[in-house]
Amino acid sequence: MIQQANPGAGYRALKAEIDQAVARALSSGWYILGAELRAFEAEFAAWIGVPAVIGCGNGTDAIALALRGLGIGPGATVVTVSHTAVATVAAIEMTGATPLLIDIDPVHYTMDPAALDRVLKHPPSGLPPIRAVVPVHLYGQPADLDRIVPLCREHGVALIEDCAQAHGARLHGQRVGTFGDAATFSFYPTKNLGALGDGGAVAVSDPRLAERIAALRQYGWHKHYISDEVGVNSRLDEVQAAILRVKLVHLDTQNARRAQIAGAYTTALADGPLRPPRQRDDVTHVFHLYVTRSAGRDRFQAALRTAGIGTGIHYPVPVHLQPAYAGRIALDLAGCPQTEIAAREVLSLPIYPELTDAEVKTVCAALQSLLRDH
Ligand SMILES: *Cc1c(COP(=O)(O)O)cnc(C)c1O
Repeated sequence: MIQQANPGAGYRALKAEIDQAVARALSSGWYILGAELRAFEAEFAAWIGVPAVIGCGNGTDAIALALRGLGIGPGATVVTVSHTAVATVAAIEMTGATPLLIDIDPVHYTMDPAALDRVLKHPPSGLPPIRAVVPVHLYGQPADLDRIVPLCREHGVALIEDCAQAHGARLHGQRVGTFGDAATFSFYPTKNLGALGDGGAVAVSDPRLAERIAALRQYGWHKHYISDEVGVNSRLDEVQAAILRVKLVHLDTQNARRAQIAGAYTTALADGPLRPPRQRDDVTHVFHLYVTRSAGRDRFQAALRTAGIGTGIHYPVPVHLQPAYAGRIALDLAGCPQTEIAAREVLSLPIYPELTDAEVKTVCAALQSLLRDH
């Protein structure tokens, strides 16, 4: 079986280096907020091209910490998409803010700037004022920041980029994570930069914001044992930081390999009924996921499973239709029709850097035979 994602293969490919880094962290005798984390934060900041990175427990906490750092919580509405990992919306609610979900552009699956423009101009009644927007760089492709950034500026709302699926993606040559007031990353094991456990980070340019977020991640301590405000405990531990330092060195090469695999799939799919993903102009897509689309999605998924090829659906149920959110979550008055169609049609093919050429060929051959029989 070829898995859709394979974090174990990611470990085995770098086992010697990772084992050495873990041993170094364990031998140091210091396990939380130490030299490994400081080094990783500096290295990751330099790699993205931002002045500061603050490590934290996971990508969900990263979003909540970024929002809280920017002063957003109860009494604020935060706009995001319904077509995302539920984590994006859960993080907004963790802060006490009110999420407002809007639709996606059906071609690229990222926030529809026309919907954003509409809710900023005419917010649905009964909601607190809109104070922030969280676009998601979904599947590894930058959201339409050319239109989203000016809208946020015009309306004076904060912009937090959810980069959990897009480490290293670029728009006009500039890496995502550098466009907003803050950007958040997840290091969940299957992400492009994955820890071997949980991890996350916030990237910011304002040093005062960096300091505030660093305090919020540890009980609100600006100085040891003195809580100036109420914080949480959400730290990236030394072992995970040491592992991430190893993996960061290989990330550009691994992202290039993902793009190569994506190219092979796109060629195999040609213009058949299983439609390949489309890229925006002037972006570097980092293919966290390779997401195809077809009205016959379920049939294709079953046939691929029979052929020994694992797939995934990201995501089968839009956030606004999930049991915990349906009926109570604030939605754009126009609804999220494109999100609902996408949820029925998307299918993610296997993609991770360690897929061998032979495995890629196997997947391509299976796709071509499916499309022939279609
Ligand atoms: C993975 C993910 C998150 C959450 O990250 P965790 O580390 O699992 O908390 C948030 N947003 C998006 C888009 C994600 O893919």
